[in-house]
Amino acid sequence: MQADYVIVGAGSAGCVLANRLTEDPNVRVILIEAGGKDWNPLIHIPVGYMKLLDHKTITWGFKAEADPGTAGRAIAYPRGRVLGGSSSINGLIYIRSQPEDYDHWAQLGNRGWGWDDVLPFFRRAENWTGEDAEIHGNTGFLTTSPMTEQPEACHAIIAAAQELGLEFRPDVNNLPRGTGDSIGWCQQTRGGRRRASAAATYLRPAKKRPNLQIITHALVHHVVFKDKRATGVVFSRGGAGNNKVEIVDAAREVILSAGAIGSPHVLQLSGVGDPEVLAKAGISVHHALPGVGRNFQDHYIARMSCYVRDLETLNERARGLGFANEIAKFFFQGKGMLTFGASLCAASVKVLPESATPDVQCVFAPASYKPGLIRKLDERPGITGGPWQMRPLSRGHVLVRTPDPREQPAINPRYLAEDTDQRAMVGGLKFLRRLFAAPAIAKHIIAENVPGPDVQSDDELLDYARANGSTVYHASCSCMMGDHAMSVVDDQLRVHGLEGLRVIDASVMPAVTSTNTNAPTIMIAEKGAAAIKDAAREQMAA
Ligand SMILES: Cc1cc2nc3c(=O)[nH]c(=O)nc-3n(C[C@H](O)[C@H](O)[C@H](O)COP(=O)(O)OP(=O)(O)OC[C@H]3O[C@@H](n4cnc5c(N)ncnc54)[C@H](O)[C@@H]3O)c2cc1C
Repeated sequence: MQADYVIVGAGSAGCVLANRLTEDPNVRVILIEAGGKDWNPLIHIPVGYMKLLDHKTITWGFKAEADPGTAGRAIAYPRGRVLGGSSSINGLIYIRSQPEDYDHWAQLGNRGWGWDDVLPFFRRAENWTGEDAEIHGNTGFLTTSPMTEQPEACHAIIAAAQELGLEFRPDVNNLPRGTGDSIGWCQQTRGGRRRASAAATYLRPAKKRPNLQIITHALVHHVVFKDKRATGVVFSRGGAGNNKVEIVDAAREVILSAGAIGSPHVLQLSGVGDPEVLAKAGISVHHALPGVGRNFQDHYIARMSCYVRDLETLNERARGLGFANEIAKFFFQGKGMLTFGASLCAASVKVLPESATPDVQCVFAPASYKPGLIRKLDERPGITGGPWQMRPLSRGHVLVRTPDPREQPAINPRYLAEDTDQRAMVGGLKFLRRLFAAPAIAKHIIAENVPGPDVQSDDELLDYARANGSTVYHASCSCMMGDHAMSVVDDQLRVHGLEGLRVIDASVMPAVTSTNTNAPTIMIAEKGAAAIKDAAREQMAA
């Protein structure tokens, strides 16, 4: 089997690349994905993701290492394992992050990654269905939509935030540099009633092209090298029982788009990484690159919920006749709670005195969960907010443990390891308490049920967050872009010291973006595809 480009992983980034690279009918691409086709209907019903987070075949079933940051818990660490990757199971929030995040990437020495450089790629990706606006694109593949339903409970939260002095921003993707504390309605990767995953938007139209071959249920074991040049990958089909391996050759390049867990893992399985880590795992070194799997970052969230009166919430809408009505609304009108994502409105606030821009993102939902139980809605009406530190200083790892590609690597974001991150988390929870005490929402609040009135001091709030918080699913930065000893790829996303090998996915972020990571990952892939095409053109011209 041979192609010009072999892409490993059909997630957010891999689907973009498969589409963009096969736009040229003379270029042959093979896309290899460990998971299967995205047939499960729950993938396509936006709210269905809640039932998929621990799905046996559609996710990898990873656990993060037990860590003091999570009070010794080994928390579940969902990642998509299906066409569309994590974009097939994510919370649908479409947000690009603060312009300053990208300016920071550029300041770190990454040429072409400042906000003004990346904005055209966000626009190129997007097919915005809301009102025309210069900041959005409407000729791209990724369908994005404003919230079509704006529940009363969220209006009350937005009004309360305004009472605290937050600016209401009608478009959370139009926050010019220097924007202060603000709140607005979330936008979604959704087209009509259906999720707009990378597979549904980018891959589906490309599937028809004869120059694209997609291989599913195929686990890539490692990259094949001839000296320092990547020449292909080794993979096996089916489950653990199959020991037969196959090779696919890449005439031009191998592109790792296996995500922030998969890409550093495949590199390490290929002998590319920190020699000490590889030796411990029993893997011989092909190319020493100490930054592989380091600098790992994620956001961490701890929720605060209140029981409310005189406001309709999803807790009631999700049961009995109410739910039957929601199902009908979804199928006949493409509306209602089944079209909702992880949160409906979000605030960006500054809680640390030293921060130049907002440092905590708070997401809100007109729903609440039973204390202690995972994803079981309360029976009484409730609302929830959750803060995360936007730019955590804590750094973790994704490290190979054995030469067996089926064994998960050690995953540890080391949440709340840094004092700044602890202060931001406590500041975020205190901000939520101030918000819920503001008149527009306070009049509806019966009581705070989580974490509850017994949790008051900073230490108690931090302990609560450690014992009850969870990932925001923003695994990133484990193959950092840069030009220094711990960077893995350069600003063209080529792996340092090797040829014919790029990493293009969330793992190349030098620092995690302040808000959610799907839109930034798709932008990275659009930019990576353009870099590959430019390089091919230059080579032809030479
Ligand atoms: C539950 C959840 C909720 C989220 N909610 C949001 C949200 O609301 N908004 C937002 O912006 N972001 C959200 N995110 C984050 C966002 O979806 C990710 O940042 C983004 O999808 C990452 O894209 P990626 O291409 O780097 O990796 P992925 O999309 O994870 O793709 C990696 C692909 O590679 C495959 N793969 C890995 N290893 C191998 C191998 N060895 N062989 C073959 N294939 C392999 C995987 O199966 C997967 O399909 C969420 C993520 C999750 C998991």
